[in-house]
Amino acid sequence: MAKALFDKVTLIGLGLIGSSLGHAMKRGGIAREIVGHARSTKTLQTALKIGFVDAVFEDMGRAVEDADLIILCVPVGICGSICEQISPHLKQGAIVTDVGSVKGAVIAACSPHIPAGVHFVPGHPMAGTEYSGPESGFAELFDNRWCLLTPLRDGDQQATTKMIDFWQACGANVETMSAEHHDVVAAVTSHLPHLIAFNIVGTADDLEGITKREVIKFAAGGFRDFTRIAASDPTMWRDVFLHNKDAVLEVLGRFNDDLGALTKAIKDGDGDKLFDQFERTRHIRQNILDDEQDK
Ligand code: NAP
Repeated sequence: MAKALFDKVTLIGLGLIGSSLGHAMKRGGIAREIVGHARSTKTLQTALKIGFVDAVFEDMGRAVEDADLIILCVPVGICGSICEQISPHLKQGAIVTDVGSVKGAVIAACSPHIPAGVHFVPGHPMAGTEYSGPESGFAELFDNRWCLLTPLRDGDQQATTKMIDFWQACGANVETMSAEHHDVVAAVTSHLPHLIAFNIVGTADDLEGITKREVIKFAAGGFRDFTRIAASDPTMWRDVFLHNKDAVLEVLGRFNDDLGALTKAIKDGDGDKLFDQFERTRHIRQNILDDEQDK
């Protein structure tokens, strides 16, 4: 087995991402010991029973004691308060990272609580499913997916390199970028599509003259895919939109303009405009298939 990258890793939050990281670390022999903390006793017991952690602690401070790597796998809105609580218990030289879908707001909330001598390397694996909780994770979640790291300007280079090694050992491809850039990329590729899904499924549910039964019964491929995305965790997504407000509003503005142009093309019976747009977007799908990012 490969040499472990870390002696002790603590996962705070043991849902989809936390449990998948536990499984991936076990698969790759990445940590000698994995300990976990979550909000509820039920989650702690489930995690221990499944076995993607070696030990669990109700007390967050005890969970992070002596840990070389602490990974925050909780909704983005509480990352700051978690950092504040663990701060006095962190050992010198430890790395704190997170997996939050928003980076600027998480960095602003966490940075003030990272003690001198502890390294903060924010991150975001671009991998997920619509499921949540400790039973939803699996070791392969990050395989051939991208993990975006957004190191701080004055951050420790060695700690960043170690996190690149970590994510690669979990199966991911890694790219580093600024938090500002990340938040726009995530707004376009993930946040806006989720917002559209939440909206379209809500609209279908509200339409007069079409019963809920019909929506379910006749759901064709396109709509069915939207319902899968719209089944994602409400707490996580509420926090994403509250904390990536500026970037989401920026891309939403562009989206509304483009939707307006398509609406006009339909009104005007402008088939060429519609065809050209659909032809252009079809190529993007092919690029994703070529990149093996469709699964
Ligand atoms: P999840 O399955 O709902 O799990 C969230 C975990 O956080 C649970 O174990 C929960 O504990 C714990 N938690 C919540 N509040 C807590 C608190 N105050 N103290 C300690 N633990 C607390 O969520 P997830 O999908 O893994 O998402 C976690 C993070 O990953 C989010 O920041 C999200 O933005 C990011 N992310 C998600 C995806 C995705 O597709 N889901 C993809 C990439 C990144 P209990 O179980 O005890 O309630």
